[in-house]
Amino acid sequence: MIRDPICGMEVENEQFSYEFEGKKYLFCSDGCRDKFKGSAKEFSQKYVYDLIIIGAGPAGLTAAVYASVSKIDTFLITKDIGGQAVDSVKVKNYMGFDFITGKDLARKFKNQFLQQHYLRHIMDEVVKINWLDNNFEVLTKGKNKILTRSVVIATGMKRKKLAIQGEERLQRRGGCHIVQFRI
Ligand SMILES: Cc1cc2nc3c(=O)[nH]c(=O)nc-3n(C[C@H](O)[C@H](O)[C@H](O)COP(=O)(O)OP(=O)(O)OC[C@H]3O[C@@H](n4cnc5c(N)ncnc54)[C@H](O)[C@@H]3O)c2cc1C
Repeated sequence: MIRDPICGMEVENEQFSYEFEGKKYLFCSDGCRDKFKGSAKEFSQKYVYDLIIIGAGPAGLTAAVYASVSKIDTFLITKDIGGQAVDSVKVKNYMGFDFITGKDLARKFKNQFLQQHYLRHIMDEVVKINWLDNNFEVLTKGKNKILTRSVVIATGMKRKKLAIQGEERLQRRGGCHIVQFRI
């Protein structure tokens, strides 16, 4: 459901629209559109999404696809696209594939998201979520402040690193490596 950012009324068509900083805003009437145009910067910062999804691993991207299909006014914030799947050399027994590399699977996720179920998104890291006047205020490392009525947190997990020599270089190389280290 798309809401008029000025009056909050549900908007069903694109008759009154205005583009500002790459986002298209829809209005119920010429009057609300004119009011928005007068102080677009201020109003766009007060815009409240219905949903913010944090993370674009398999879980976040699945949520994004279904939010798009359901026409929920959604914004996606993520540090990367693909999540842990990118680190998997062999993904076995994933429905539809006998075998696929994590990198190829992540590429398919990305294409499906961008080409068939596009949602507004930003590559950034969420650092804080505040509860503010009945909405969530999501703050990012890149100093973005975005308001939403609901949040899906799909931030997965990050494995602990061993902190040994060659770890970064050998990451994602697959197979078995002999690493020499002194105790
Ligand atoms: C080496 C390896 C091999 C694997 N092999 C298989 C396999 O063969 N089969 C299988 O089913 N599973 C496998 N898995 C597990 C599978 O990859 C995970 O279960 C799956 O990726 C979890 O998905 P997720 O979306 O919950 O989280 P993740 O994939 O962890 O995604 C989390 C997302 O959130 C983002 N994020 C995190 N914090 C923030 C923040 N503060 N702000 C913004 N964004 C944030 C990350 O950048 C990422 O995009 C493997 C995992 C690894 C590491």
